[in-house]
Amino acid sequence: MREYLKFYIDGQWVDPVTPKTAEVVNPATEAVSGTISLGSPADVDKAVVAARRAFETYSQTSVKERLDLLETIQAEYLRREEELGMAVLEEMGAPRGLACGFHTLLGKGHLGTAIEVLREFKFEEQRGPTMILREPIGVCGLITPWNWPMNQTCVKIFPALATGCTMILKPPQLAPYSAQILAEILHTAGVPAGVFNMVQGQGSVIGTALSTHPDVDMISFTGSEPVGVQIQKDAADTVKRVGLELGGKSAWIVLDDASLAANVAGATSGMMGNSGQTCSAGSRLLVPNARMDEALAAAKEACEAVTVGDPLGNVAMGPVVSKSQYNIIQDYIQKGLDEGATLVAGGLGRPEGLDKGFYCRPTVFKGTNQMVIAREEIFGPVLVIIGYDDLDDAVAIANDSNFGLGGYVSGEDAETCRAVSRRMRTGAIWINGGFDFHAAFGGYKRSGNGREWGEEGFREYLEHKSVVGW
Ligand code: NAP
Ligand code: MG
Repeated sequence: MREYLKFYIDGQWVDPVTPKTAEVVNPATEAVSGTISLGSPADVDKAVVAARRAFETYSQTSVKERLDLLETIQAEYLRREEELGMAVLEEMGAPRGLACGFHTLLGKGHLGTAIEVLREFKFEEQRGPTMILREPIGVCGLITPWNWPMNQTCVKIFPALATGCTMILKPPQLAPYSAQILAEILHTAGVPAGVFNMVQGQGSVIGTALSTHPDVDMISFTGSEPVGVQIQKDAADTVKRVGLELGGKSAWIVLDDASLAANVAGATSGMMGNSGQTCSAGSRLLVPNARMDEALAAAKEACEAVTVGDPLGNVAMGPVVSKSQYNIIQDYIQKGLDEGATLVAGGLGRPEGLDKGFYCRPTVFKGTNQMVIAREEIFGPVLVIIGYDDLDDAVAIANDSNFGLGGYVSGEDAETCRAVSRRMRTGAIWINGGFDFHAAFGGYKRSGNGREWGEEGFREYLEHKSVVGW
């Protein structure tokens, strides 16, 4: 049993102002795995005071000092990487290979990238008579979700630290453990008191206290669209900068060429990774109508090959994060059946042999882009395959969405992949499985505002000062 009852404020582990606790449930077993404290606005006030005080000095540190700090953190992160991975496994149910693999690798990658960008970043730039000074924005409230806990905390914390900001992290109640270990890592690495603070608790309490706080300069939020909208409203009265990374319903366009079956199989198993709980997941798979039968056969085979079970075992997919997510996903599968989508693989209920834990069946539908299962983010292992007639049709379907986070193009002809990428209205496109830590991540349309990852991720945390007549 884990017990994390203290918050990290002003360089110390402190008790909540008013004691209140909550149990954390292991999604693989449905058993309580530990206890955390739930904070109140009074805890947030203490953290903001500490962060404001620390900003006076931390904002004035040199690039060299911040590089040294980040490199010390890197060594400590590496030392505790396995522990972070096991915390992710326990809190949100990712299988060991994924939790101790890609989950922690993403955190490490954002840290390494922050170091690389910081070495080269131009904080000062002369343009004609004007000197441009890029200065840290101030005290930042970082609010994160549970689905990729290390990715989402690290992609905020390290650029904020690198640019000279101070911060208060509000981790998700569903996945509070890895954040707690991360705070220990930052403490051991010697992050100055008040620069990083962490208060656990409910989004409606801690998140709101941060969004409305007069002494918080910026909110960086990753999560759902309704909460993003609420934060923007809450932050309006104090004119905060608000960075929003919200949901998605990303299209994966498979071009009509020789490797169609292999690409469909890759996209299908990719969708089931992390139990489909990925904001940029390619949840609408677009294939040529002329080759639909071949595509459905490949998707069915790939989907049925996905092994589901105890995250401690050697499986491709664990449970989803919570009972409520499980129920939401079941409702969407039922909705797909009701609206006449063709069930290609999977379906309602748990996979055979699993009667405890929030396990869903990897599911593939053939449907249309007008169906609810193609329009709303399911955030579970459910793929919708949609046919297209020609490339214009494929692009039109891809863009017919309220979201615009990611996009995927698979095909052998590089020119066609590039041409399709230019026409898709999303913040990122991956051609044939490309990956780059320096590629900015964020959404068009209702997928959000602002960009994280790499150099663009630094700009989120910086103010632009023009000094004319330098
Ligand atoms: P969520 O309900 O929006 O929660 C995200 C975070 O916001 C949690 O820490 C939550 O606290 C907090 N929160 C809740 N209400 C709040 C409020 N009124 N004010 C301030 N903070 C508040 O999202 P989720 O269910 O955890 O995550 C799933 C969603 O996130 C999906 O829609 C997914 O697409 C999106 N997502 C987007 C990205 C991206 O980069 N674009 C990445 C990952 C996830 P609690 O601890 O109380 O829940
Ligand atoms: Mg939530």
